[in-house]
Amino acid sequence: MATKLQRPDYAYMGGRIIPWDEAVLHVGCEAVTRGLNVFEGIKGYWQNNGKFGIVFLEKHYRRLVRSARLLRIPCPWTFEQYRDAVFQIMGTLLSKERDMWARTTLYVIEGHWGEGTKADLIITAYHQDKVIPDPIHLGVSTWQRATDSALPARIKTSSNYQMGRLARMEGRARNCSDMILLNSQGRVAEATGSCVLMVRDGVIYTPPASEGALESITLEFIEALAKTLKIPFVRRPIDHTELFIADELAICGTLAELVPIISIEGMTLNPDGPLLTAIRDRFFKVVRGEATDPAFEASFIPGKFIKNA
Ligand code: PMP
Repeated sequence: MATKLQRPDYAYMGGRIIPWDEAVLHVGCEAVTRGLNVFEGIKGYWQNNGKFGIVFLEKHYRRLVRSARLLRIPCPWTFEQYRDAVFQIMGTLLSKERDMWARTTLYVIEGHWGEGTKADLIITAYHQDKVIPDPIHLGVSTWQRATDSALPARIKTSSNYQMGRLARMEGRARNCSDMILLNSQGRVAEATGSCVLMVRDGVIYTPPASEGALESITLEFIEALAKTLKIPFVRRPIDHTELFIADELAICGTLAELVPIISIEGMTLNPDGPLLTAIRDRFFKVVRGEATDPAFEASFIPGKFIKNA
């Protein structure tokens, strides 16, 4: 499920494509000293019509702008400029056999404690095999998601991933590939890089973002797919204990896609349960252009940006 750390030949920085080794930040800048940045992970799939489609690009741009606003980071890039930067780096690195995932980050490179803040849009893109993710073992972490008044989950910034990293390390020792973080009330917030879907008695539930989850773009899409498939989908708080009596569980996100859960804290679950399997089949058909759904949006990389694929 995770993208293995690759060293692609190029990155996008300072408004242009540059060799990977030149994509460096100074140790004195806010991005390094205070970890100040906001970012988006975006995914592109080869479509069955031979085009390469980046999914929900405009929604990702809008969320990036929201995160930047919340951290008071100016974002002078328009959607069109952002999109073309993504097209450039993905088009440069694209290969025929594999999909891609890219991290588009606004790193704060000028300013000090909020004075004269300036950011740069830096994009790194990675290849991904065209595979449907296998079910995983999931645990519940002892680390908590911070509250809205401490480190708001709706800001997609790297400092929000410190607890996720510790949670993953905690999980690894217990053979869990991913972990759920509870919120300060002890209810389900989200997984380390994805949202949680739970089925009970024929209904799919997910916690609202106010429980400590990112405002997920994949979740919105899955909600729409559930509507098309006439499967009830409800956003409501989820108690910790409900995880252990759920009929089905999965995690979802741009990078995670839709991963069924085979066990939670060592208790087995059916990873092929009917509701989430129906959603999953539909999800992978739609993102590859094998089926259509009114909620789906893809930005196709124009041929002039594509170098070798
Ligand atoms: N929560 C966290 C912490 C994430 O990093 C992600 C991935 N961006 C998600 C949820 C899912 O969000 P999305 O569906 O927009 O990728």
